[in-house]
Amino acid sequence: MSTEVEIQHNRGLYLPELELWLDAERKVDLSVISHAHADHIVNHRKIIATPETAKLFALRKGNVETEALEYGKPLKLRGATIELFPAGHILGSSQVLIEYRGTKIVYTGDLKLRESLTCPPAEIKECDILIMESTYGLPEYVFPETAETHQKIVDWVKDTRDRGEVPIVMAYSLGKAQETMKLLGDAGFDLSVHKAIYEIAEIYQEFGVKFGNYDQWRPGSAGLGVVLVPPHLSRWKPLDAIKKRKKLLLTGWALNRSTMYRYDADEVLPLSDHADFTELMSYAKKAKPRKIYVVHGFLEFVDYLEEEGFDAEPLGEEAGFVKLHRKKK
Ligand SMILES: [Zn+2]
Repeated sequence: MSTEVEIQHNRGLYLPELELWLDAERKVDLSVISHAHADHIVNHRKIIATPETAKLFALRKGNVETEALEYGKPLKLRGATIELFPAGHILGSSQVLIEYRGTKIVYTGDLKLRESLTCPPAEIKECDILIMESTYGLPEYVFPETAETHQKIVDWVKDTRDRGEVPIVMAYSLGKAQETMKLLGDAGFDLSVHKAIYEIAEIYQEFGVKFGNYDQWRPGSAGLGVVLVPPHLSRWKPLDAIKKRKKLLLTGWALNRSTMYRYDADEVLPLSDHADFTELMSYAKKAKPRKIYVVHGFLEFVDYLEEEGFDAEPLGEEAGFVKLHRKKK
């Protein structure tokens, strides 16, 4: 017989009985870091994270006291057991299983169920309470098959080069850029990548991800063959020195074509490291929780979960949601 465990959301998840934060967004004493994306990393007094996330965290934020916890290794903390397991999002990304007073709580963090070239696939564990992100939690967000998107990316790069133009691929510096490096490297393309992408790729290599031929791009040069930069540099002056160029943006928001114009891209393809609507739903069904809390993303996702018979509610309604109007209530 389990009793209810209190879960709060106030710029991060908080379990008061354990004095434990999950992905706290401001400095706290102790926080689990699900993965090293910028919105999740703050210089806490101490963090619990996978060795990969700890290394990426240190690159981005400097060293902090760290409890490096590998996937599947339980950690005892204040009467609870904490275990990290793969989220399939980026290198080192983890979901968190907390067992406390007979209740199994799973926090997905950012998640993807589709295959990844650079990190192990997400696992799904049955639990009592599921706390899930819902970045693409609307039915219109269903991504094409990964293999199809990969093929389109390779074809676009090949066609661009065949026309004598330099392909510039824009992908977020942590995660998507390395996924793209793996894809294009394995397809035989030589890559020159922006410094931020390069430094992170070195850490991926340390943890066993093998890339093809690449170097650090020297601004102004045409690079080895394909140039890879983060999307926020789409209008970066040094790119203008590459006279014949075409730009491809890789983002899940490719499903909205307007994204392409915002980033001054010639093409956009839906490479995402997040679960789409179908994956989120199938995850919930397999985890069989009696209660679901939704954090971040679309508030309407809660209604879709309820339609499937789940007891679901948003957590942290003030901050993390894209839309604040619910469909039915
Ligand atoms: Zn993320």
